[in-house]
Amino acid sequence: MIHNKVNITRPLNLSDSITQYRGRFAPSPSGNLHFGSLIAALASYLHAKHQQGLWLVRIEDIDPPREIIGASSAILATLDAYGLHWDETVLYQSQQSDLYRDVLQQLAEKELTYCCQCTRAQIKVQGGIYQGQCQELNLPSKNNAIRFRNHQGIFHYNDLIQGEYLTQLEFAQEDFILTRKDGLFAYQLAVVVDDIYQNISHVIRGCDLLEPTVRQLSFYQQLGYQAPEFGHVPLAVTEQGFKLSKQNKAPEIDNTNPSPSLILALKFLGQNPPDELYSYSVEQIIRWATDNWSTDDIPKKHEITFS
Ligand SMILES: [Zn+2]
Repeated sequence: MIHNKVNITRPLNLSDSITQYRGRFAPSPSGNLHFGSLIAALASYLHAKHQQGLWLVRIEDIDPPREIIGASSAILATLDAYGLHWDETVLYQSQQSDLYRDVLQQLAEKELTYCCQCTRAQIKVQGGIYQGQCQELNLPSKNNAIRFRNHQGIFHYNDLIQGEYLTQLEFAQEDFILTRKDGLFAYQLAVVVDDIYQNISHVIRGCDLLEPTVRQLSFYQQLGYQAPEFGHVPLAVTEQGFKLSKQNKAPEIDNTNPSPSLILALKFLGQNPPDELYSYSVEQIIRWATDNWSTDDIPKKHEITFS
């Protein structure tokens, strides 16, 4: 069940409420999965399967300059090797441009967007939050970013894992970017439109996206769609406090021997896997983890040092 069109002017009705659990994992193809992204993939998978839900994979390939050739297929091969088998066809954001443009057009017709010429450096000088300088300038779209007129400013919500989450009003109220100066679609636009398109009911992901969630909630409200439930698992960080990432050479995980890192990821998520799991097959480990999945046992921390 997918929305073929995201129509922000249609009236809401009860059939819009999502009755089936539909979760997703949405990596960007800027490298293969590493231990940090395995944690997010595993958590979203287990949360879905524990509730007999569907689990989809979406490749967020809307930033060609950061894309690494072959990364998408490497990610999918790793998920398979780790027993994280997805339902339905993999969605590639690079195939969704017409839908994003259509939503931008609808927002423009409702005067919910405007063009902005401010540079990153100018915004940084003003404290890192854009102050709305271009709101009434009627700038052309060429070589300018498109911003969302954020009338909602949702600044708190109840996270499935972290509990009540509160962020600064100034951040929550910012007119955030929907397309960049170079014309590429921004993350906030693509992720919300695709979660609506795929009828996603639950988003389980890493705490690096905890704060932007408030913007996504504002965007949902303005679009007139029910937002999914959000839950954020702790980030694995280095001793220096850096997120384990493709950029800081986090260890790639071994497709030929998945069990040790799978069990380590379960421990990281507070799931207390018993020692006998080391003698289990990947499928048996995933089965145990699905049956025993407990969000209450996930540490309520935004970051955990992993070394
Ligand atoms: Zn501006």
